Amino acid sequence: MKRELIVRKKFSSAHYLENYKGKCEKMHGHTFVVEVIFKADKLDKSGIAIDFTILKSYLNSILPDHKVLNEVYDFSPSAENLSEHFFNMISKDYPVSKVTVWESENAAASYGS
Ligand SMILES: [Zn+2]
Repeated sequence: MKRELIVRKKFSSAHYLENYKGKCEKMHGHTFVVEVIFKADKLDKSGIAIDFTILKSYLNSILPDHKVLNEVYDFSPSAENLSEHFFNMISKDYPVSKVTVWESENAAASYGS
């Protein structure tokens, strides 16, 4: 069994889907929940892998809170694209298994290795 850490963070932003016909082509907002699963095989002497406090503030620093996502990114900011983008971004700093972006309580997209 592999050990993993799971950290969730919320951010609120606006977006619209580009090249899409339907209600999501119009600007609207979500409180997105980003769930990151970190690989955490090694523990230090205190029994922890990566300090949750560090991971939470790291996620705070990279998540685009109160932004218009279409102005921030050069891709259509669907949950699918956002999860891939966050996965690639976080992978540069930490070992990541999977990133899930929840757009609502009942709908999410994941990207992982
Ligand atoms: Zn949306």
